[in-house]
Amino acid sequence: MESKECCSICSMQKADGIYLLRIYICSSCEKEMIQTSVDDPKYKFYIEQMNKAHRAMIYS
Ligand SMILES: [Zn+2]
Repeated sequence: MESKECCSICSMQKADGIYLLRIYICSSCEKEMIQTSVDDPKYKFYIEQMNKAHRAMIYS
């Protein structure tokens, strides 16, 4: 039996992900996050998505 988690960044169901601060992130998003520089607006988006996921987790 295979269970797929939903990625907090791209909202896709991926089996190959990791838990970062208890938030599930698929391997492709993780890779992109690592390669994105802090000055990149995309980096801010990732942080926002993670904060959102974290808040949702707390209040659910
Ligand atoms: Zn993803």
